[in-house]
Amino acid sequence: MRIAIDGPAAAGKTTLARSLAQALGYLFVPTGAMYRAAALACKRGVALGDLDLQVREGGRILLQGEDVTDRLSSPDLDDLSSQVAVDSRVRKRLVEIQRAIAAGGDVVMEGRDIGTVVLPDAELKIYLWATEEERARRRHREQGGDFAQILAGIRRRDERDSTRPDSPLRPAPDAVVLDTTGMGPEEVLAQALKLVEERRAHLAR
Ligand code: C5P
Repeated sequence: MRIAIDGPAAAGKTTLARSLAQALGYLFVPTGAMYRAAALACKRGVALGDLDLQVREGGRILLQGEDVTDRLSSPDLDDLSSQVAVDSRVRKRLVEIQRAIAAGGDVVMEGRDIGTVVLPDAELKIYLWATEEERARRRHREQGGDFAQILAGIRRRDERDSTRPDSPLRPAPDAVVLDTTGMGPEEVLAQALKLVEERRAHLAR
């Protein structure tokens, strides 16, 4: 089964995708981290044609053979990654890699365009949502810093991600929209597991 999880910034996609993949024994593919690594590559002056990105067990990301996973959540890559992600040449390259990974077996892939562009025929599509304020509160709890700045950053990124011409952020018509406002990660996982069971039962018919 290929499970696509999309949604706006800080909606909990990575947390859900990781725990869902673990519960099901599927490969976890964080495409947000791939765009962050592409932004890091850009900062380091790596030419797009030379970009070597690999996703390993547990969603670890290798850039030019180096494990850069722990550097990717730094706030300076928030904006840069969404700027790099507007470029269609970057998207084309990353989508190729993402599709090749999904062709290899069961995956939980999270991002912005998985259900709409990368895997339009995914067996299950979840669009994870929560209010801007709730998402900013969650990010603030994780990272600390200035709440107003975090909220502004989330708004800026959502605006850029949903208005770009190539692969804008939006729910696929056949996605299940999960409003997680007020929910904890365990409840979100339980809801997603229920959706997986329903989908499996439907596919087995
Ligand atoms: O998910 P995360 O916030 O780490 O993603 C960083 C940025 O990468 C997003 O703001 C978005 O611009 C871009 N992205 C994308 N398509 C994806 C995943 C991420 O454009 N599938």
